[in-house]
Amino acid sequence: MEREVRVRFAPSPTGPLHIGGVRTALYNYLLARKLGGKMLLRIEDTDQNRFVPGAEDYIRQSLEWCGIELDESPWNGGPHAPYRQSERKPMYRQYAQQLIDSGHAYYAFDTPEELDAMRARLTAAKVPNPQYNSITRAQMRNSLTLPAEEVKQLLEAGEQYVIRLKVPRKEEVRFNDLIRGWVVVHSSSIDDKVLMKSDGMPTYHLANIVDDHLMEITHVIRGEEWLPSAPLHVLLYRYLGWETTMPNFAHLPLLLKPDGTGKLSKRDGDRLGFPVFPLEWHGKDAETGEPTVSSGYRESGYLPDAFINFLAFLGWNPGSQQELFT
Ligand code: GLU
Repeated sequence: MEREVRVRFAPSPTGPLHIGGVRTALYNYLLARKLGGKMLLRIEDTDQNRFVPGAEDYIRQSLEWCGIELDESPWNGGPHAPYRQSERKPMYRQYAQQLIDSGHAYYAFDTPEELDAMRARLTAAKVPNPQYNSITRAQMRNSLTLPAEEVKQLLEAGEQYVIRLKVPRKEEVRFNDLIRGWVVVHSSSIDDKVLMKSDGMPTYHLANIVDDHLMEITHVIRGEEWLPSAPLHVLLYRYLGWETTMPNFAHLPLLLKPDGTGKLSKRDGDRLGFPVFPLEWHGKDAETGEPTVSSGYRESGYLPDAFINFLAFLGWNPGSQQELFT
C-alpha cells in the first residue's frame, strides 16, 4: 500500500530561525503540497543547555508570516502529539532499553576525566580522529567490558552513565539520498554515539529517529550538515527493526557565504546589507550579553511573497522564464 507522504520540519529552539531554516521548511512544505501529503513541525528541545527563551515563538511567527502552513504542530496539535521532544521523554527511554536488550547498545560509566585521558592517549599515538568506537571501547568502563555483576551493582548504586550505540567494526552502511544518490560509509568511521545522556535526556540522534518513525515520516528533507549523521540513523532504523519504513532522505545544499567558505551567517548578511531573519530578533550579544536587535525581512518592508520567491530560487530553477510563484 502506498503510504501518505508525511514530511517534517524539526528546528531546535536554540535561536532565531534564519533564512536557511526557512528554506528547509519551504522545501518540505512544497513537497507535501505537491504530493497531497502532510507537513508537521516538531520542536527538538532535548539540549537544555542551548535552549533560548522566545525562540519557539519566533519560529511559529516566522512561518506564519511566510505563509508556510502546518498540518500538525505543538500549537495546533495532531494525532502524534506531543510535538515537543521534552514532553516525549518516556518514549525515548523505552527504545534505548530495547536497543540494550537486543545487544545493540550498552551502558558506559566513563567519567569526563577518563574520556579526556582516552583522547589524550589516542592523540599521542597520532590516531587522526580519536573516537569511542569498536576498538577503543575495549579499554573503557562499560557494560561490554565489565563483569555483569559489577554493571548491576553500578546501576543499583546510581552511578552516572550514558547509553551508547554499539556500532559494528566492519560493515557497509548505505542509503540512497534523493539529492546525492547512493551514500556508502564504512562503519569503522562511525563512533559509538551517545543515545541517552547522563541527565536522562536522549540525544538528537535517538530522539530524531524515534520521532520520525512514530510520526510516520516518509521524507526527511534537511540541511546537508546532517548528511554525516545519516549513516548512524540508518543503523538505528535497522537495529530498532524499522528498516522497511525508513524515510527517504534528501540533504539540501546549504546557503553559503558569498565566497563559499561556510554557512551563511548573520554577520555576512549585515556586511552585505540584507537581513538573514524573517522577523526582527531581540537577542543578546554572545560575548557581552548586551541586548541586540537584528532587523528582519518583515521590518525591512519586504512582502512575504517576495521573500518566499527569493528563497525558492536560491539553488533551483524551474527550467522556464517564470519568476513569480504563489
Ligand atoms: N533539530 C535539528 C536542527 O535543528 C533537525 C535536524 C533534522 O532535520 O533532522 O537542525
